Amino acid sequence: SGININSAIIRQPNWVILTKGADTLTTISLVVPCYNEQEALPIFYDTVQKIVTEKLADYHIEYIFVNDGSSDNTLTEMRQLQTKDPDHVHYVSFSRNFGKEAALYAGLQNTTGEYIAVMDVDLQDPPDLLPQMLAGILDEGYDVVGTRRVTRAGEPPIRSFFARMFYRLINKISKTEVVDGARDYRLMTKQVKDAILSVTEYNRFSKGIFGWVGFKTKYIPYENVERVAGETHWSFWSLFKYSLDGIVAFSEVPLAIASFVGMLSFIGAIIALLFIIIRAALHGDPTPGWPSMVSIILAMGGLQLFFLGIVGKYIGNIYLEVKNRPIYIVKEKK
Ligand code: UDP
Ligand code: MG
Repeated sequence: SGININSAIIRQPNWVILTKGADTLTTISLVVPCYNEQEALPIFYDTVQKIVTEKLADYHIEYIFVNDGSSDNTLTEMRQLQTKDPDHVHYVSFSRNFGKEAALYAGLQNTTGEYIAVMDVDLQDPPDLLPQMLAGILDEGYDVVGTRRVTRAGEPPIRSFFARMFYRLINKISKTEVVDGARDYRLMTKQVKDAILSVTEYNRFSKGIFGWVGFKTKYIPYENVERVAGETHWSFWSLFKYSLDGIVAFSEVPLAIASFVGMLSFIGAIIALLFIIIRAALHGDPTPGWPSMVSIILAMGGLQLFFLGIVGKYIGNIYLEVKNRPIYIVKEKK
């Protein structure tokens, strides 16, 4: 019965082999956040196009570029790509810079594909891994195939050191697993995308959200690649703040530490007080003893302020969440 000569063979995750016409190709969506990436964007598109036309010819590729409030010509580049290749290229442009996490959320919301990849525009997420990642889903039955950098070559040593410390810490104090070196570069099924989108918190920490939603995940290791153009948007300080947000979003342990240390020092103070009273009763009070008093007051004051800060951070995040503001604002979309 009527077999279409132009048909392509698509392998479905359930091992059924289907034949489909070119107009019903399975779609793979690529979500690409861009912030001041006018140089990298065209290079990205050309490179990925070359790879997908060679190695993923049986699929329809859908690019969802997200312009995260760039101040350079990124949006112009996006419009040009979209005009040139309207069948594949779509974009969402924000009214201002909302951050990569918001850009990922917007991108995911606008995908129509059966499989969805999230990747950086600077080609630090090697697009030639895509076929291998897809095989992980189709042939091995994973829901998500992520990538892990096994080296941090080309990164300042101090940054690597703190990154390692961060992963060790967050995995100790959070029930959600955050894989060391895991990139945001992942390929997932539509089901996983919907799960990610159902997490609507304002303070988004993708690495944690991916762990939190679960699903069968595999990581492909690869060597670190340098940026193709432009430079990183992360300063040491912004990474530090991002890590703190990640910890606050996925762990209540800092709060527990606050009450634990508070309890300890209270017990310590009672014991010290008993000791001082008994000593004074037995031997009298030879010194006025205010140096010790002052140091105790200072120590307690310091502790209280420190933990007030931690509690404040949580309250601040609660405040941000209850305001229930949208994660991003779109100015232009195609
Ligand atoms: N990015 C973004 N909004 C931001 C910062 C970054 O959309 O506020 C994008 C950026 O254009 C890139 C990706 O997120 O595609 C990763 O950024 P970057 O390369 O600076 O991070 P790194 O690779 O150094 O961790
Ligand atoms: Mg990068």
